[in-house]
Amino acid sequence: MKIYVIGLGPGSYENLTIKADRALRDCDVVIGYSVYVDLVKEYYPEKEFLQTAMTKEVERCKMAFEEAEKGKHVAMVCSGDAGVYGMAGLMYQVGEAYPQISIEIIPGITAALGGAAVLGAPLTHDFAVISLSDLLTPMEQITERLLDAAKGDFCICLYNPSSKKRYDYLEKACDILLEYRQEGTVCGIVKNIARKGEEVKILTLKELRDTKVDMFTTVFIGNSQTKVISGKMVTPRGYHLFHCQR
Ligand code: SAH
Repeated sequence: MKIYVIGLGPGSYENLTIKADRALRDCDVVIGYSVYVDLVKEYYPEKEFLQTAMTKEVERCKMAFEEAEKGKHVAMVCSGDAGVYGMAGLMYQVGEAYPQISIEIIPGITAALGGAAVLGAPLTHDFAVISLSDLLTPMEQITERLLDAAKGDFCICLYNPSSKKRYDYLEKACDILLEYRQEGTVCGIVKNIARKGEEVKILTLKELRDTKVDMFTTVFIGNSQTKVISGKMVTPRGYHLFHCQR
């Protein structure tokens, strides 16, 4: 008995890997948060689908193991990659109580990479990924990491940049970053990556501070070298271009 933990990529069916598609074909039942289940439902109509609400992660994992115990092949689906603020770790933790069931993780395109491709090439150098959600992480730690990433001149991807309750977190994060970064630092926001209503915007860090985003958005802060080339956000890797100047 086996559970596939599948990263679906940021949205569209085209962003699913071939391996994820094969695992979904191979399984009997697909389990996930309703929004993600809805993303794939139409492509696998013959499967059984079980959905749970967003905050029911532990219950969802247990459900997966209970279905597998019945002898079914189970696919637990997450958006992006299941190992990036996803369920992969929790599946191993809950799985300790079900040693007879094996877990296979199938990677997916995480929002940082899906969004980077929409923006251009913002992550071609070292980058840090930070979630602004303080549901599971204390705010002091988030602040500390923002400061360290800013100090280290990393490009930064912010996940969970905002929600109804945390409406001013992006503004606060920008204020922290501005302690080490210039106001003119090139930034980007991508909403609904590879989904209906995809939106992209390039702006400065100062402008980003005064921008409202929602939870379906990933935010990119460039490093000190990041620039705009032909309307795209580009972080150079340091190649010398003198020989191809025209
Ligand atoms: N496992 C997911 C991340 C889950 S955390 C992954 O690897 O992508 C949820 C956050 O991810 C959102 O608040 C948003 O910041 C980002 N995100 C996920 N999918 C997205 C999409 N299609 N468009 C924009 N941002 C997305």
